[in-house]
Amino acid sequence: MDSLKIAVLPGDGVGEDIVPDVLPVLDRLAEIHGSVKFDWRRYDWNCRYYLEHGEMMPADGLDQLSDHDAIFLGAVGDPARVPDHISLWGLLIKIRREFEQVLNIRPAKSLKGIRSPLQDGNSFDFVVVRENSEGEYSQIGGRLGTGADEIAVQNAVFTRKAIERAVRYAYQLAASRAKKVTAATKSNGIIHTMPFWDEISQQVAQEDESITFDLQHIDALAANFITKPHTYDVVVASNLFGDILTDMGAAMMGSIGVAPAANLNVNGKWPSMFEPVHGSAPDIVGKGIANPMGQLWTAKMMLEHLGYEDMGEHLLGAIEAVLADGVKTPDIGGTATTGEVIAAVNAEIGS
Ligand code: ATP
Ligand code: MG
Repeated sequence: MDSLKIAVLPGDGVGEDIVPDVLPVLDRLAEIHGSVKFDWRRYDWNCRYYLEHGEMMPADGLDQLSDHDAIFLGAVGDPARVPDHISLWGLLIKIRREFEQVLNIRPAKSLKGIRSPLQDGNSFDFVVVRENSEGEYSQIGGRLGTGADEIAVQNAVFTRKAIERAVRYAYQLAASRAKKVTAATKSNGIIHTMPFWDEISQQVAQEDESITFDLQHIDALAANFITKPHTYDVVVASNLFGDILTDMGAAMMGSIGVAPAANLNVNGKWPSMFEPVHGSAPDIVGKGIANPMGQLWTAKMMLEHLGYEDMGEHLLGAIEAVLADGVKTPDIGGTATTGEVIAAVNAEIGS
């Protein structure tokens, strides 16, 4: 039987309320499927660690993480005691950069039992693939001049390699889904980088004609997300456009508490990291009402990434069944506690 060595970083806030209780659910799934065993290694690197040691993780922290099959993270941040730039750059961003987690993947799906802000009946099931290493979020630029003549310049940097990598991944994903890729562009207004993006994505598209390919301007795409979200399967986007679209996806689902995410290393050199979209939610920490669905769904993404699609599907099925049964935390209109939701998912998984 395979053994998977997973680094578990509950992190801060509700991460610590949720993550430890999700692990037994995964152990149970593994037991039922009988194909794998989890070797959980817990690392308590968080803001408390920072307050004790002056850094978010030990100096050899990345080394320690590097020989795991994946990193399963809760949330990072304790803004009342540690400034966000320290907690984010000292842990999250460090891991993403050093482990070349160049793609951010966020699925969004309409779920029975959660009120979406969209019109009833506007069902959807798509995944946004966000290029997460370059693009509009470059460090290049600056300010010139003073007073009324002052100007600011910000350069976007796009490389053929990174665009190809993102679009290829979107294609790979679409092949196992509804076989449709939409690339977000704005080549009618951004006349250097976006035509480059279009050109490369069209080249990749020509390699596999079994997938329907479409380029859409980001403004129209954002509007279509609201009016016809069912027309999307896999959407691939630059860093900035992907940032916006992924937040829209989470909002469309009705609560940030259910939204999952993955930071993928695609060259196979380093582990990928799986963390829900929500943050540490200091306003509800310790109250037992944090929604564990986002963390559970994130676990589903991890299982799939590691090649255990059947376990992932089983887990998502249980999540959807529990939501449809109305076992829900307050953020999605229920009265259940974190523990009650996890227990219901456990029961739904069966034995
Ligand atoms: P970050 O900077 O880490 O993204 P944030 O403050 O922007 O953090 P969250 O910590 O996600 O965002 O909190 C945003 C709002 O969503 C808060 O009101 C919080 O209580 C709520 N929230 C976040 N996660 C959950 C969850 N799992 N269950 C219920 N509510 C949540
Ligand atoms: Mg935030």
